[in-house]
Amino acid sequence: HAKALGRGCYAFFDVDLDQRNHRLMQIKHGLRHALSRNEMSLVYQPEIHLETREIFGYEVLMRWHSEELGPISPSEFIPVAEESDIIADLTSWMMLQACRDLLPLLNDKMQIGVNISPRQFGGDRWLTLIRQCIDQEGLRPSQLCVEITEGALIRDMEQAVVQLSELRKLGIRVAIDDFGTGYSSLSYLKRLPIDFLKIDRTFVADIETDQDDQAIICAIINMAQSLGIGLIAEGVETQEQLKFLKSQGCDIAQGYFFARPMSVDQIKC
Ligand code: C2E
Ligand code: MG
Ligand code: MG
Ligand code: MG
Repeated sequence: HAKALGRGCYAFFDVDLDQRNHRLMQIKHGLRHALSRNEMSLVYQPEIHLETREIFGYEVLMRWHSEELGPISPSEFIPVAEESDIIADLTSWMMLQACRDLLPLLNDKMQIGVNISPRQFGGDRWLTLIRQCIDQEGLRPSQLCVEITEGALIRDMEQAVVQLSELRKLGIRVAIDDFGTGYSSLSYLKRLPIDFLKIDRTFVADIETDQDDQAIICAIINMAQSLGIGLIAEGVETQEQLKFLKSQGCDIAQGYFFARPMSVDQIKC
């Protein structure tokens, strides 16, 4: 079989790619009827004030349990949904449902963090959705924090500057999500109206042992503080991580150490 090895390897690679494409097609197809079949649900993860241990807000995270494919992570299906209008349907459903679930449980100071893809930003549909949340669901603009990943922001910088300023004018808060993973020039921080940076959990993970990660976190905290931007650390899993972040002046944190993402019924208990 020595002779066939080269071709065999090639064929193996093709099969791999084929399987990937097949999975993406299944996801794309499955997403079209996921909402009407009630396969989507929302979970909420608290963000905690480190000083007072009070709840600062909840981040809304989407869950999909497909009848055909089983549970699928948002990291896998959101990028597929973003390639079509499906993302707009999912976002509408997500924001209205989150308002209905959370607003009865929140006080005026607590925020609802929603993950938004900048590609769906702007346009009538987006504005109508925001207005619907405010007028029909009783959301106060200051209770909403729109999270945009640093990577997506950099891809659509010009559009993002305009759209984020519009949100800010309405009194809606803005957070840069997965901060530190975008490999970007930081000059955009000056141009953008930002309320929070969410420090990506990859920097938090090894904070106890990795001096480079410690240095990066300290730099992010110092920079945010001097720019007057709030900080939320993601993925805090241990007491030691918490201690370090607190000692460096980080205000707010989120992670399994405090709570896993929960259904609204779990929050009520
Ligand atoms: P993200 O916005 O950075 O959300 C944080 C992710 O970290 C969530 O994963 C959450 O479950 C996870 N996490 C929280 N605490 C910990 C921890 O202590 N340790 C570890 N290892 N992980 C933790 P999830 O729910 O799988 O979401 C993945 C990504 O999918 C989100 O990243 C967000 O970018 C995207 N996403 C989720 N829901 C939506 C949505 O409704 N719309 C859009 N556009 N994107 C969404
Ligand atoms: Mg997020
Ligand atoms: Mg994040
Ligand atoms: Mg993240």
